[in-house]
Amino acid sequence: MAKHTIVLIPGDGIGPEVMRATRRVLEAAGLSVDWVELPAGASALDQGFDNVLPQRTVAAIAAHKIALKGPVTTPVGKGFKSVNVQLRQKLNLYAAVRPVRSLPGVKTRYEGVDMVIVRENTEGLYSGIENEVVPGVVTSLKVASQAACTRIARYAFRYATRRHRKQITVFHKANIMKMSDGLFLDCARKIHDEEYPNIEYQELIIDAGCMRLVQDPTRMDVLLMENLYGDLVSDLCAGLVGGLGVVPGSNIGDDVAVFEAVHGSAPDIAGKGIANPLALIMSGVMMLNHIHEEAIAAKIRNAYDTVLSAGEHLTRDLGGNAGTDEFADAVIAKL
Ligand code: NAD
Repeated sequence: MAKHTIVLIPGDGIGPEVMRATRRVLEAAGLSVDWVELPAGASALDQGFDNVLPQRTVAAIAAHKIALKGPVTTPVGKGFKSVNVQLRQKLNLYAAVRPVRSLPGVKTRYEGVDMVIVRENTEGLYSGIENEVVPGVVTSLKVASQAACTRIARYAFRYATRRHRKQITVFHKANIMKMSDGLFLDCARKIHDEEYPNIEYQELIIDAGCMRLVQDPTRMDVLLMENLYGDLVSDLCAGLVGGLGVVPGSNIGDDVAVFEAVHGSAPDIAGKGIANPLALIMSGVMMLNHIHEEAIAAKIRNAYDTVLSAGEHLTRDLGGNAGTDEFADAVIAKL
C-alpha cells in the first residue's frame, strides 16, 4: 500500500481532541501515512508564530496537496483575518463540498435526507473588503466574478454527474442583489444549458429555499450557492440530520484539498473530552476517497454506521454519554 504524506492541523478548542481521535481511527483502519503536523489559529500564536496562519503551514499544504484540518478560533471583530478565509483564498480552494445525510441510529425529525451543499469558497461577502465611508458608516463589498461563478457551477455539475445525482438547486437572492447573484445565476444556467443538460436544474430564492429545507429536506439533492449562503445553510442542514457533530466537509481546489468538519472550535465544550469526533472522522473518510484509499474509507464508514445503529457509545450531542475517546474506541473495535 502506498504511503501518504498528509498535513495535519489540530486547530483550536475541541480541534486537538477530535483530531487525536480521528487520527487513531484512520491509522487503526490501515492508513499508511506520514503526518506533517503544523499549527493554524490561536494555537499558532501560542506556539510563537506571529500569524494565525503561518507561511510554513500554507507552504506544506501546497507541497503535499492534502490536509486534514481541525477547527480554528477566529476572534470576532478586529484583529487577524480569518484563518479559513485566508487558507481558502491563498490555496484557491474554491469549492466547499458538504454532504448531509441521515445516519442510522441518529433520530431526527426527518429520515432519508441525502444532500450535498456545494459552496463557492473564495469570494462573495468573504472578500474581506470593508471600508468606513465616513465615521459611523461602513460598507462591505460582495464580489462576484464570472470566472469564479463559472468555476463553481462547473464543479457542482461535474460532481453531480459523477456521483449520479439527479438535480441541482441554486439558492440565491437575485431579486435584491441583481448584479452579483444575477451573475451567479447566469453562470449556473449557462453551464447547465451548454455542458450538463443531463442534470435537472432549479433556482430558489434563498428564503423560500430555507423554508423548503425545513419542511421536507428529502426533496433536495445538490445545493449550489455563493459563500455566505453556503456557510449559513450548512449549519441549518446539519441541524436536520443530528447537528454539527455529524456533518463533514472538504475544501477543494484544482490540485489541493483540505478536509475539515463543518463545525467550529466549540469553546463551550473544549477540553472536556465530550466533543463528537464523528464529523472529523467522516471528513477523513472523504479524504481517503479523494486519495483513492476507497477500501479503508468503506471500512471506517461501515464501522461508524454499525456503532451508530447499535445506539451505544454515542456522544452527548447524539443523546448518549460517551466521551470523544470512547466513541473512537467503539469505531475502532468495529473495523
Ligand atoms: P461551533 O460550531 O464551534 O459550535 C456551535 C455549537 O455546536 C456549540 O454549542 C458546540 O458545543 C456544538 N458543537 C460543535 N461541534 C461539536 C462537536 N464536534 N461535538 C459536539 N458538539 C459540537 O460554532 P461557534 O461556537 O459559533 O464558533 C466557535 C469558534 O469556531 C469561532 O471562533 C468560529 O469563528 C470558529 N469556527 C471555525 C470553523 C472552522 O475552523 N472551520 C468553522 C466554524 C466556526
